[in-house]
Amino acid sequence: MDSWEAARHRLVEELRALGIRDERVLEAIRTIPRHEFVPEPYREHAYENRPLPIDEGQTISQPYIVALMTEALRLAPEDRVLEIGTGSGYQTAILASLAAEVYTIERFPSLLEKARARLEALGFHNVRYKCGDGTVGWPEFAPYAGIIATGSVPRVPPSLKEQLADGGRLVIPVGGRHFQTLKLVERRGDAFVERDLCECSFLPLIGAEGWPPEYAEDPCEPKSKPEDDGALR
Ligand code: SAH
Repeated sequence: MDSWEAARHRLVEELRALGIRDERVLEAIRTIPRHEFVPEPYREHAYENRPLPIDEGQTISQPYIVALMTEALRLAPEDRVLEIGTGSGYQTAILASLAAEVYTIERFPSLLEKARARLEALGFHNVRYKCGDGTVGWPEFAPYAGIIATGSVPRVPPSLKEQLADGGRLVIPVGGRHFQTLKLVERRGDAFVERDLCECSFLPLIGAEGWPPEYAEDPCEPKSKPEDDGALR
């Protein structure tokens, strides 16, 4: 066993201790090399249970959250699943190892192309990629047995509810700019049953049924510091 593999085993035990029970999800985390989805400077931290920076000011989600969201989807091997916010592609790989077909949408072309290259190199050929606004879903291939949004929205996008199959499940962080509640929405015919899973903190989804473009900038982290002009205030 190499040291990455040993680190993955430790991570799986940590996730188990945190309450993740689905053996298929744990097995996916045990086999998918998260370090290949993390930029070089952060690789040594790839199997710690925390988010890490990727390009375009985005993050690869925390493994516990990835496991929790995937578990909540309860995917079957024949399922079709839609992911909004490809980012590094790590969550995409987890989904692609559990479901038949994955449709993934990312706003930044640079992130999408890197994720595509990684996933293809790892042998995942059941993924379709789209660059654009995922808050309106991907109606062409609907309905989906599972929909997962890895960025936050102010309210559940009606388009995503519409694109759920009967009995399908949507997992999505809903709330404010910095803190949200992770929601599970299950479709039963024309009815939608909502349940809160936990509190969470995701980056925003920028789009027609998400946040406006100005939310892409984090008001807590100004890009440049105001000049110190020496004035007494
Ligand atoms: N699952 C990813 C998380 C990336 S963070 C991972 O673990 O690596 C959220 C991602 O959503 C970012 O890559 C961001 O660019 C993307 N995003 C933001 N708004 C979007 C939109 N409207 N449609 C698709 N992707 C969006």
